[in-house]
Amino acid sequence: MTGDAPEPTGDDRVRYDQARYVEDGQYEPLLSEKDLTRVEIDESDSPLPDDLTRESVELPNLSEPELARHYTRLSQMIYGIDSGPYPLGSCTMKYNPKFTEDVAALPSASVHPDRSERSVQGTLELLHRLQEFLGRIGGMDAVTLQPPAGAAGEFVGIRIASAYHEHNDESHRDEVIIPESAHGTNFATAALGGYDVVSLPSDDDGRVDLEALEAALSENTAALMLTNPNTLGLFERDITEIAEMVHEAGGLLYYDGANLNALLGRARPGDMGFDVMHYNVHKTFATPHGGGGPGAGPVGVVEELTPFLPAPRVREAVDSRGGDGNENGSRGDEPAYELFDPEHTIGTVHGYQGNWLVLVKAFAYIARLGDGGLEDASAKAVLNANYLASRIDYDVPYEPFHHEFVASAGEQDAADVAKRMLDYGVHPPTTKWPEIVPEALMTEPTEVESKATLDRLAAAFDAVAGEGDETLEAAPERTTARRIDQTSAARNPSLSWQALDPDSDADGGDEN
Ligand SMILES: *Cc1c(COP(=O)(O)O)cnc(C)c1O
Repeated sequence: MTGDAPEPTGDDRVRYDQARYVEDGQYEPLLSEKDLTRVEIDESDSPLPDDLTRESVELPNLSEPELARHYTRLSQMIYGIDSGPYPLGSCTMKYNPKFTEDVAALPSASVHPDRSERSVQGTLELLHRLQEFLGRIGGMDAVTLQPPAGAAGEFVGIRIASAYHEHNDESHRDEVIIPESAHGTNFATAALGGYDVVSLPSDDDGRVDLEALEAALSENTAALMLTNPNTLGLFERDITEIAEMVHEAGGLLYYDGANLNALLGRARPGDMGFDVMHYNVHKTFATPHGGGGPGAGPVGVVEELTPFLPAPRVREAVDSRGGDGNENGSRGDEPAYELFDPEHTIGTVHGYQGNWLVLVKAFAYIARLGDGGLEDASAKAVLNANYLASRIDYDVPYEPFHHEFVASAGEQDAADVAKRMLDYGVHPPTTKWPEIVPEALMTEPTEVESKATLDRLAAAFDAVAGEGDETLEAAPERTTARRIDQTSAARNPSLSWQALDPDSDADGGDEN
């Protein structure tokens, strides 16, 4: 090192400049924009029919190191969990340990989904054990692994609730009650399920208002959907009373599991009186979010609702003597696990057993952490949120919160604050939601970050808190991509990459 790097001073202690690789006046060109060579394909080499085989393909003329450098550069031009913390409240963007990827990459994890039950006993065992793990963690009697995301899990849960009511000749129940601070998917789920949404106001403490709940409940109530701790990170202290009230009215209590990492190993939705819940494995159990999927949103239910679960489910073989007499394995081993259709199933909601590799990662994570590790994760998630909140200058109006808190940007625009935080080398929190907090900064540091990282995050918050509108409105200025024209992006989206002139102004709006 030459010692040329300037000494960091003042707010520069959290300064960060994203890499900008420029070639021929363009940011790092895409592979398809590089020097291409047309390569002929010998059709006789292809196992595919001729009409499905391309005659030639254009490939970039690059050596292996050039290719590796291209991807390394791209990775330095963006922000990701491998660059720094990601305190997105509610989304729980925690670090996904690499060992779960190793487990998912084991040759034995890649089974063809159409193989016979008998030949994939290990696969079924893993699914069965994961069902059991999740059931035990949530205090639920049975679990389906099929739904491919939390929102899909909600939809399955609400379908199960309606099948249950219909089975009991109670199909007149046509309302689902949802707190106004709930996640948007709850409202969408209820509407998709054919229900009228009854919106529940919060009390002054940010929790369910029991009087409002009493007024909302009726013989038309199918379910109450609750997130606990709620989106302000607050535990619903009256949860057992809430459960009694809902059950008294003949409704079911639905648990949105997005915040389960606050309670992991300490408290269970089933013990609080919830009847049906989803698990966001990509939030609680460290599997990747994957840009909208593939994810997994297993659903757990209490005994009474198990006959309605999606089909098929995995269970230990009922008749291990091979009662149905089909395809006897050549080794004579009796299968230990089998698939079956629950009696009043709502049907199949996803091919096979859901997103298998995501489930493998969730299984690996839970098995590796064990009971003690899960309990430790929730402790640290709550500790980290409380430590971070105590260190920042922004006001946090609702307390005591658990794994996340909602600060208010006050006079500043929360979206501008978020953009400016990128300049300090951290990802911003979730903004402008829930709406109970003006200019909300919904922050969830997660259990994986160290005190040093939390201090850096706090320094970034505080640097932005001290800045004026002009600076905020021009942000971000140290990232490769600057502020986009959001209106144009929404109205006239250009969905393919176009390199911008790196010397142009922040806005860039008139160029694409
Ligand atoms: C993320 C989230 C959902 C939806 O889950 P997905 O897995 O993203 O579909 C539902 N409720 C809350 C509170 C959430 O944070």
